[in-house]
Amino acid sequence: MALINENFLKLKAGYLFPEIARRVKAFTEANPEGAARLIRCGIGDVTEALPEAVRYAMHEAVDEMGDRGTFKGYGPEQGYDFLRNAIADNDFKARGLEVSADEIFISDGSKCDTGNILDIFGAGNKIAITDPVYPVYVDTNVMIGNTGEADENGAYAGLTYLKCSPENGFVPDIPEEKVDLIYLCYPNNPTGAVATREQLTAWVAYARKHGSILLYDAAYEAFIQDESIPRSIYEIEGARECAIEFRSFSKNGGFTGVRCAFIVIPKTLLGYQKDGTAYPIHPLWSRRHSTKFNGASYIVQKGAEALYSDEGKSQIKALIEHYMGNAALLVEAVKAIGLPVFGGVNAPYVWVGTPNGLTSWQMFDKMLNEANVVITPGSGFGSAGEGYFRISAFNSRANVEEVCRRLAAL
Ligand SMILES: *Cc1c(COP(=O)(O)O)cnc(C)c1O
Repeated sequence: MALINENFLKLKAGYLFPEIARRVKAFTEANPEGAARLIRCGIGDVTEALPEAVRYAMHEAVDEMGDRGTFKGYGPEQGYDFLRNAIADNDFKARGLEVSADEIFISDGSKCDTGNILDIFGAGNKIAITDPVYPVYVDTNVMIGNTGEADENGAYAGLTYLKCSPENGFVPDIPEEKVDLIYLCYPNNPTGAVATREQLTAWVAYARKHGSILLYDAAYEAFIQDESIPRSIYEIEGARECAIEFRSFSKNGGFTGVRCAFIVIPKTLLGYQKDGTAYPIHPLWSRRHSTKFNGASYIVQKGAEALYSDEGKSQIKALIEHYMGNAALLVEAVKAIGLPVFGGVNAPYVWVGTPNGLTSWQMFDKMLNEANVVITPGSGFGSAGEGYFRISAFNSRANVEEVCRRLAAL
């Protein structure tokens, strides 16, 4: 009798994006005209073409694969040195940060990394997540057995929810209680908020005091416009003793379909055995990664390396300017109709308060039926997201301009 992992049965059935897809399908089947006008500002996926520098490098890599002399089979599980060095030099050393190439592990995505990281942590950790939150952090903890059942609001027993609201700038207050693992994502998906140096300094101090680890998701760092906002947790003194950073090429380089990301695990980061003995995290992840992963594709890593060339950097800059230009238009359009608006300044997401006390899903239906625009209901990211909706700036300029016109007509 093959037993299943019953933790999966705790997962809530109505996962956000399938429910959005169901409602959109029902709408388009009933309204062919509305379907033709439909603009999707829902799922956070990039829309613009892969940078030329990346395509060129990948073509070259494909040709190398086609020649017996330069063909590559399995590569190093942690990633090729050419990419690890490019990351260490450009993302960290050039900014005066101490992260060495062998503290960087290349993977095929941050979604997998943020889920897989739980392999190396023990049972019994107190886990804190923000509310609202990127659902992957929650569901992966449910799957591995770190939670109890969900209540009627979808909150899982055993998880510590850190409420994010306009009052705290959507950056959670330091909790009274002790927690062991804390997921932070800044710039934030879904709220578009950023964390200031002071706020991150407080979190690093908290983590060091309690022997906790911050799981810092910096997937959107490239969208930061304000020079005073940290782009990496390692800009905060002491973070090498308490933080793991997740980075991805998905949003800066348009790699959502190409797949490449990395984790930084400082060699100075320690966890603890039950008897209180300290143990370094780096060798644990190294072992986990090389046992369960056989390396990202050579072709893809060559493409990622090209993002650090001069051409690659300027092509990333153009992509970011495009999306942030979209975000600025959306922020203006939402302001003009008098709705409370957050984010969209250092992040490609605009977080909007619903009008007249509508719930997030009521607003979703209103936008779908009246404006033929798909947005994401805030409540899908956690109960503190109720009363908000997210508009993604990942779109063509023409679509965003049309969405702005439709918002004005709402
Ligand atoms: C898009 C996104 C990522 C990137 O995920 P990949 O698997 O690398 O594509 C990571 N974290 C958050 C919060 C995201 O929105």
